[in-house]
Amino acid sequence: MTLPFSNPLSIPVLGFCAYSGTGKTTLLKQLIPELNHRGLRLAVIKHAHHNFDVDIPGKDSYEMRKAGARQMLVASHVRWALMTEDALEGDPQLPHLLAQIEADKVDIVLVEGFKKLQLPKIELHRAAHGKPFIHEHDDNILAVACCDDTVLPESMPRLDLNNINAIADYVMSYVSDWQAAHKAAQLVVTAEPALAQRPMTTVAPAHTSQTLSVSQGAQAILNCVTPLTEYLSLPLAELNGAVLATDAISPVDVPQQTNSAMDGFALAYDADIAKYQIVGQVLAGHSFERALNTGEAVRIMTGAPIPAGADTVVPKELTTEQDGHMSCHDGVIRGQHVRLAGEDIRQGATALTSGQRLGAAEIGLLASLGFAHATVVKKPVVAVFSTGDEVSQPGEALKPDCIYDANRYTISAMATALGCEVIDLGIIEDSEAALSAALSQAATQADVVISSGGVSVGNADYIKTVLAQLGQINFWRINMRPGRPLAFGQVNKALFFGLPGNPVAVMVSFLQFVQPALRKLAGEAQWQAKWLPAISDQMLPSRQGRSEFLRGVYHLGDDGRLHVRTTGPQGSGMLNSMVKANCLIVIDDADDAIAAGQIVYIQPFADLL
Ligand code: AMP
Ligand code: MG
Repeated sequence: MTLPFSNPLSIPVLGFCAYSGTGKTTLLKQLIPELNHRGLRLAVIKHAHHNFDVDIPGKDSYEMRKAGARQMLVASHVRWALMTEDALEGDPQLPHLLAQIEADKVDIVLVEGFKKLQLPKIELHRAAHGKPFIHEHDDNILAVACCDDTVLPESMPRLDLNNINAIADYVMSYVSDWQAAHKAAQLVVTAEPALAQRPMTTVAPAHTSQTLSVSQGAQAILNCVTPLTEYLSLPLAELNGAVLATDAISPVDVPQQTNSAMDGFALAYDADIAKYQIVGQVLAGHSFERALNTGEAVRIMTGAPIPAGADTVVPKELTTEQDGHMSCHDGVIRGQHVRLAGEDIRQGATALTSGQRLGAAEIGLLASLGFAHATVVKKPVVAVFSTGDEVSQPGEALKPDCIYDANRYTISAMATALGCEVIDLGIIEDSEAALSAALSQAATQADVVISSGGVSVGNADYIKTVLAQLGQINFWRINMRPGRPLAFGQVNKALFFGLPGNPVAVMVSFLQFVQPALRKLAGEAQWQAKWLPAISDQMLPSRQGRSEFLRGVYHLGDDGRLHVRTTGPQGSGMLNSMVKANCLIVIDDADDAIAAGQIVYIQPFADLL
């Protein structure tokens, strides 16, 4: 089971993975000085399995952290360390940890652990330990470091586990290859021409079906997607679902001034003062005319500015008033219920970064900063059509042996939910001329063309012929269920997806392949699928070597953890299973059947369906 990973840094990240006891740390302890010696500056991230601590009881930093500091930064002129209390369900998130690394100070990050992530890795293997190979189930293994007598597939690069120099050579060339590829990619991005001349896929045409895993298929597709670079400025009311094209820098402090979080009294709190004289009141939108003196309080409303001299707000219900004076009940903490100027966002800070998909919260934030407009990426235009003689238009009488077209509507709804503009090309009749005309027309208007049906072996030839004439098309067999056949390529300047015919297979293939591509095309920075671990409440049959996408219903169990069960019968034509489901249960190609009580990964629909 491997999980999506994307490197947020502009330097390479390389993992070292092995079963425990293989000697990862021993190897890294020898490799690090050798790489340093060769001039490579490096950072290391290590996954610790337990409740580890780097501090020592009795040290000031330890005591302050234990007293409740969520982050504790201790610094001297030699080094500094930041400790963050971050109790998480499941594994720490590697992209978040990587974002803490100062990428301008190092050339590469070596990662120990995080074995399950789709992260380029070197596998360490000692045959004597009798542990299975990782590379057999993980496409992200670049090379295996092992002993002489270990048998590996011919195509798998091998390194001598006992030859640190050879491993260091490999890391050095990995860094220089990565840097060269990164530079080339940046050149392409900066020299990006207008949409009409955008270079599209680099997929070589293939007329025979290749078999790929889900992650290989998704990666091959993503490699061909270049984010759109046409931007426009839209008013707040039209921003929902758009992707921000430029960082939003806050022109103001939020809140603008230090203000009250409660209705009550503002005062300079002193535990020794029993009574404060009430000297006035201050409402939201107004300010108190002078500074408060010791022993004075003003009535204050939520949002009203705290008068100079005051440092604390005591909620009205925790006070007693008598003869123009107020006294506080027990338990007041100095500084309470005061919102500091700029505590949410400081003037000049990046409030939202480009690539952010805008929803209610983001639009609210932009509005709160005073922005009336934002610059966003132009909506991707998606053209959709269905194929098949049996496929009929809903609303018309159903002919014998026919079915109503469901796919055009599921695809259109999902594309619209992803912020795309949809062109409906209808059901294309089974004639080369009709398909050819519709497709060439669509490819001039749309960034992406999506069809369904007619890509499985047997009936694929017809659509194949037309597509091959118009562009570059690959027909793939994906090791997945449902959704085995998939066509992908390019028609003129547009990306083309030929999804299978069965309605559930269409939706599953859309979620795995089209969704990340549309997100990337739309300029979204976070287009990786969100997976969550859940406990399977039942045995889930699966076959090694194939990814299963079962329709599931997740719920919060009495144990406070996520649980999941299937929706029942899983036929690839049963749209009802999608209606009942709130997630896909993903059983990776590395896994056999899942036993009841075992953890599986789920892909919740919340985002899209
Ligand atoms: P195909 O891959 O074209 O052989 O289609 C596989 C199955 O999906 C067949 O049972 C088709 O009838 C069905 N199918 C194809 N297109 C659609 C559609 N647009 N809506 C609903 N079912 C479809
Ligand atoms: Mg068909």
